[in-house]
Amino acid sequence: MSITRAGCAALDSADPLRGFRAEFVLPENVVYMLGNSLGALPRRTAEAVAHTVTTEWGRDLGQSWNTAGWWNLPEVIGDRLAQLIGAAPGTVLCGESTSVSIFKVMSAAVRLRPGRRTVVVESEGFPTDRYAVQGLAAGFDLNVRDFGPDGSLSENLDEDVAVVLLSQVDYRTGALRDMAADTALVHAAGALAVWDLCHSAGALPVEVGAIDFAVGCTYKYLNGGPGAPAYLYCAPGHLSEAEPVLRGWHGHVSPFAFEPDYRPANGIRRFAVGTPPILSLTALGASLELWQKVDIRSVRAKSVGLTEMFIELTEHLGLELATPRDPAGRGSQISFRHENGYPIMRAMIDHGVHGDFRAPDIMRFGFTPLYLRYVDVYDAADALAEIIGKGIWRDERYQRQVTVT
Ligand SMILES: *Cc1c(COP(=O)(O)O)cnc(C)c1O
Repeated sequence: MSITRAGCAALDSADPLRGFRAEFVLPENVVYMLGNSLGALPRRTAEAVAHTVTTEWGRDLGQSWNTAGWWNLPEVIGDRLAQLIGAAPGTVLCGESTSVSIFKVMSAAVRLRPGRRTVVVESEGFPTDRYAVQGLAAGFDLNVRDFGPDGSLSENLDEDVAVVLLSQVDYRTGALRDMAADTALVHAAGALAVWDLCHSAGALPVEVGAIDFAVGCTYKYLNGGPGAPAYLYCAPGHLSEAEPVLRGWHGHVSPFAFEPDYRPANGIRRFAVGTPPILSLTALGASLELWQKVDIRSVRAKSVGLTEMFIELTEHLGLELATPRDPAGRGSQISFRHENGYPIMRAMIDHGVHGDFRAPDIMRFGFTPLYLRYVDVYDAADALAEIIGKGIWRDERYQRQVTVT
């Protein structure tokens, strides 16, 4: 049976998540399929940030470190994030960017396996993950082993491997790894498993289970805002021994004693470094308040429904699907490979459908079930068919490179 726009509207009226769209500020006539890159603005965020700026900062000034709970905000927000990844309270800290957080947890992980000198990273992983590991390896004389998307994980594991860094969902293709199974393989080889959850937390149910460390960003599916701080997770069993190489006074056991030498704080706080970005944490906190009302299983069910529909609606266009066809094997995005992916995506954005392009040839469409509707998916597929069918992308203005693709 063919899919109609009216059929999509009927699915939207029956959608258990339909009430959440009104919680977001969304421009009219835009189909936003870039929530996997920068999530939309929750309505409550502006008010929360305004309160922190005018009252906590403007009126109460430095007292707010105590009275408004600024000092503990990285852990308080961390505990809200913990609920989204199946982690225990006191195991998640929110603070720097993902890149810095990767450096922190990788440095701590490597030190928990003294004598082992190799770190395994994905050759096609998000480059910043690789850069952070390469920098750590250069400074600490470690070997970096690249693990390709078609490679076998177990073949890359031996007695010299200290840590393996993997992404649960691949940022280009959207392929979803079996985190529990891969972690078991890593542990069987005596190594530690660090996971990047940037494209999974908020997109599907995540369970940290037996993994050792994790990092994730909050400005994508979690709608924390541009530059929203990333989070890191440390398994309870490592909390008393883990010592990240980056140290700062916020991670000191007694920060207001101003001792000349570092002693790590107890618990997750030892991963803190310097003064946290309170305004950004406030924005993220507002979004996470909303997330506390969300049933992530409904998010996953709708994500599968939306992505399946997009694939069916675009199948006849002859695009090469880069995302696994089985929904169980993918996150919440659909990617196509196309040699003219860049101008096609520029034309799509010009027609009000926002996705993005990842070199060399990937067009990415993100599916954020809290605010994306079935009718949006229908309209996006329609626009794609028109832009390809009529060759609209050939227009000279769509060939020009912009800074952020
Ligand atoms: C988005 C993303 C990042 C971003 O890193 P930042 O330091 O927060 O800019 C890192 N890794 C992966 C896998 C990502 O998807």
